[in-house]
Amino acid sequence: MILTINTGSSTIKYQLFSHDLERVLARGIVSRIGEEGSYIVHAARGKEVRHVIPVRSHREAFELAIQYLLHPVYGAISDVGEIEAVGHRAVHGADAFMASTLITDAVLDKMAELAPLAPLHNPPNLIGMREGLRLLPNVPHVAVFDTAFHQTMPPRAYMYALPYRFYEEHRIRRYGFHGTSCRYVSHQAAEVLRRPLEELNSVVCHLGNGVTITAVKGGQSVDTSIGFATFSGVMMGTRAGDIDPGLVFHFSRELGISLEEYERIVYYESGLLGISGVGNDMRVITEAAEQGNERAQLAMDMFAYMIKKYVGAYAAAMGGINCLIFTAGIGENSPPIRRMVCEDMAFLGIQLDPECNEEAVGGREMVISPPGAACSVVVIPTNEEKMIAIDTRRLASRQPA
Ligand code: AMP
Repeated sequence: MILTINTGSSTIKYQLFSHDLERVLARGIVSRIGEEGSYIVHAARGKEVRHVIPVRSHREAFELAIQYLLHPVYGAISDVGEIEAVGHRAVHGADAFMASTLITDAVLDKMAELAPLAPLHNPPNLIGMREGLRLLPNVPHVAVFDTAFHQTMPPRAYMYALPYRFYEEHRIRRYGFHGTSCRYVSHQAAEVLRRPLEELNSVVCHLGNGVTITAVKGGQSVDTSIGFATFSGVMMGTRAGDIDPGLVFHFSRELGISLEEYERIVYYESGLLGISGVGNDMRVITEAAEQGNERAQLAMDMFAYMIKKYVGAYAAAMGGINCLIFTAGIGENSPPIRRMVCEDMAFLGIQLDPECNEEAVGGREMVISPPGAACSVVVIPTNEEKMIAIDTRRLASRQPA
């Protein structure tokens, strides 16, 4: 069995896969680690339990997850020896990790060195890896980096037009995120369309709370909308996305807004929330727009328009597009946003079958373009854990016993 681990600053999420990766035997999340009211939600054998338990540290959270996996009633294993390998989600591998890798001391050291590039994500990822290695020392542990998939971007796509020394001395460049999701859905789209991955020029629209648009040519990322921080590209739930970088000077000099305040505004008060005023959840915004709320409608219009512009740009970057993929919370569940993105895009061969578009909700994998369309439009529910499990099993099987 393969265990996947996703460690955040106050959460640990886990899933236990059968060896053939066809079944999820258990899944859970330990939340509010180190805070008041910490709890575990654990599901296995068709039952889900939610227990409030004090969890002071990531170490305790990891131990608790293992206890639940071993539990005689809620558990899925009778001995930790049944876990053959552990896959860890790792956010930032910078240009040091081109692919998933077996975790060694050298890998942990490198991740610690990269922590300044992802201060919110890499330190908890590292804790998760260290605790995992301590608790399950006899099995291979694998790190699956969110940035790795985008390491195939050419320099013209990943460089910022800053003085070159910032790249050389400080690693300032576009890295991209959501790579694990992107890799999974582009492979899955090729399966669904029964076409070789090498033939596909895909634009992947990962539309969740975070939003990433990626150009995937023949299975390789060639450009992506998120860059250095998790900010640029399409507007997101509360993040502004592409805005004029010069605004920061105007905010500071003319409006007297400090850098810290500016950061809070553009990360937490902007995007769908900032424009609609009703929330950051596309369900709430769509409902408000349907009831005539003009700002909610504007938020949807802007969101779809920004996606459209990236689809056009990436079609140009790849010399054409023959596959458009929608994934993540909004991509998998919002027919109106998919319709708005695909409207008036026939010049790129993009068309929708309206009925299929309406039907593709709630985690359904579906082609939503009409048969014979020059560009296939597909909805693929993302599954980062499965991708992590696939890499983990592959790398673990190469280990000497
Ligand atoms: P994710 O980050 O992939 O979990 O996506 C979360 C976001 O998906 C939420 O903030 C919602 O905006 C959106 N979402 C989830 N379900 C729906 C739905 N049924 N219709 C529209 N948007 C949805």
